[in-house]
Amino acid sequence: MLRSLTKCLLTNPVSVCRRTMSHSSLAGKTAIVTASTDGIGLAAAEALGQRGVHVVVSSRRQENVDKAVSLLRSKNIQVTGTTCNVGKSEEREKLVQLTVEQCGGVDILVNNAAVNPFFGNIMDSTDAVWDKILDINVKAAFLMTKLVAPHMEKRGGGSVVFVSSVAGYQPMQALGPYSVSKTALLGLTRALAPELAHSNIRVNCVAPGIIKTRFSSALWQSEDLVDEFKKQLAIKRLGEPKDIGGVIAFLCSDDAAYITGETITVTGGMSCRL
Ligand code: NAP
Repeated sequence: MLRSLTKCLLTNPVSVCRRTMSHSSLAGKTAIVTASTDGIGLAAAEALGQRGVHVVVSSRRQENVDKAVSLLRSKNIQVTGTTCNVGKSEEREKLVQLTVEQCGGVDILVNNAAVNPFFGNIMDSTDAVWDKILDINVKAAFLMTKLVAPHMEKRGGGSVVFVSSVAGYQPMQALGPYSVSKTALLGLTRALAPELAHSNIRVNCVAPGIIKTRFSSALWQSEDLVDEFKKQLAIKRLGEPKDIGGVIAFLCSDDAAYITGETITVTGGMSCRL
């Protein structure tokens, strides 16, 4: 085994080098990951960064951006950070402009930002709740894609990933409007994929199950609730942000070159279908 590896190294160093750099299809690319200073967004930034992508991280609070940038730098990841509330058009534009100025273009967009300002019976949800949820979770994700697509076209193509949820397949109790916004992303993925395929841009989506983050803390802080969830899981643990980050990086890589318009559920085996 060792002898054949040495022989291969001596006779064909380039091919060995390529094989050992197994994530090289992403090396040198630039990615914007929204809401990426914590949780799934930060894990996606880290997974892409580990594969050689220059990641642009952002969220609403400067102190969170600073913390994420130094964490990623400490892992030797190329990173740029800025504030961006995806609900504000001027901040979305600033994020894209800064990326193009500092990195020369954009190859990857991960639309990860979402809010949930409402828990309760869906019939009690208000106009303002629906506006907020649809503005951030659906419209801002679409508008980010619309802003970034021309820059991807200039690079000859790219990859967009939306972050939906298992709740998009089966609305969660007390999370009606949020769940509906996540179902909308499944449709948005399908609607955009054929149109953007003309520009060599793939559009996919990931639907996480219950992942241990601040956002979902109400779902996993009680042992009883966790035990209830575990009954629905084939893999008997809640997900970690890195369980999703790696799948997002896969969808952005050439390993997924023939995948578009799809949603991958990453739920530990929780059954879900529309
Ligand atoms: P998280 O750990 O709480 O992180 C949320 C991130 O979003 C933070 O970096 C926060 O930073 C940023 N953020 C919040 N509002 C923003 C806005 N308007 N504009 C820009 N950034 C904003 O959340 P998470 O659980 O990773 O959730 C990320 C995505 O995964 C969401 O789309 C969520 O719906 C989806 N998801 C999560 C789960 C789960 O179980 N955790 C399951 C399914 C789907 P600042 O406070 O500095 O803005």
